[in-house]
Amino acid sequence: MKTAFRIALLPGDGIGPDVTAEAVRVLRAVETRIPGLALNFEEFSIGAGEYLKNGHPLPDSVVDKLREFDAILLGAMGLPGVRWPDGTEMTPQVELRERLDLYNGVRPIYLFHPNDSPLRGKQTGEIDFVLIRESTEGLFSTRKVPRDPAANRATDTMLITRAGAERVIRAAFRIAAGRRNRLTLVDKANVLPSMAFFRQIFDEVAPEFPAVQTDYAYVDAAALYLVQRPESFDVMVTENMFGDILSDLAAALVGGMGMAPSADIGDRYAIFQPSHGSAPDIAGKGIANPVATILSAAMMLEWLGTAGCKQGAGMIQAAVRQVFADPAARTRDLGGRLSTTQMGDAILAALP
Ligand code: ATP
Repeated sequence: MKTAFRIALLPGDGIGPDVTAEAVRVLRAVETRIPGLALNFEEFSIGAGEYLKNGHPLPDSVVDKLREFDAILLGAMGLPGVRWPDGTEMTPQVELRERLDLYNGVRPIYLFHPNDSPLRGKQTGEIDFVLIRESTEGLFSTRKVPRDPAANRATDTMLITRAGAERVIRAAFRIAAGRRNRLTLVDKANVLPSMAFFRQIFDEVAPEFPAVQTDYAYVDAAALYLVQRPESFDVMVTENMFGDILSDLAAALVGGMGMAPSADIGDRYAIFQPSHGSAPDIAGKGIANPVATILSAAMMLEWLGTAGCKQGAGMIQAAVRQVFADPAARTRDLGGRLSTTQMGDAILAALP
């Protein structure tokens, strides 16, 4: 069985390098605890900083290289002050998902301690669901189509293809089958024909997974239910833009962006990264919360899938749980005083 893995590291912009450094420290510590496991890291520069240096945020040569790796760990990309001539922000992380065909955006949401939720009375583990965001089509699909700057209108197209919907919906069913067997489709099928088509495909796929109970929520109602009764959700699946918005709302339920890990998974490649962006408002201050990135590193080990890697993923999750059992061990975003590296230290010390 494979025990040595090549991991591409893309620290990126803003707080990306700070939080990635902590995830790498934790991965290295896990490596020493699991006999035979070797994680070989190689770093690449992409993002707004790379654009400023060499004129392109995502050089083709780097994308080609990334295909040679077993997995990719990414920090955050983009800076508000660094834009294309048409004024749009650079989003190489979105482009990478498209180019590597990473259609399955997996965003687990878990409450580690009641104090970290803005909702009253939620216990540890009571908020525990996974949001699946389709990440290659949906309302993001035409964002790169050239526009006529003189036109007095602009449109974006919600693209849902049969193949694109089937594959992400099947992935969501499989994830639900490995959890509490409940899957909610989030759409806007009452208004948008593209979303009615998405629901039609969901209904066609559902009989393949008879053990999984299904229901539907319109995206606006889903926003309400996430606040009113988040504990009722197990797995949710939705299109790209709805998933983008709801994943920020979902992160807020368990303490904010610093607590929300993610994986963008395709049939061959996968990228693991925090759900947050480059957070330029706190970049360079050493106060970013690295937990989302550390939990994304655990997701990476889980996805690599060997017994040793899965054991390592379990170690990281156990360490985070242990640290968060003490409400005083928090970074600033959660009302605490720990710096980014101090939170990394605490998690390292708690590794079994
Ligand atoms: P993007 O569009 O790239 O997702 P964004 O503009 O939505 O990015 P983020 O960079 O995710 O914004 O930041 C949103 C807010 O959350 C900011 O106030 C930021 O400081 C905060 N934040 C994000 N990540 C962290 C973190 N790891 N630790 C602490 N605060 C964070």
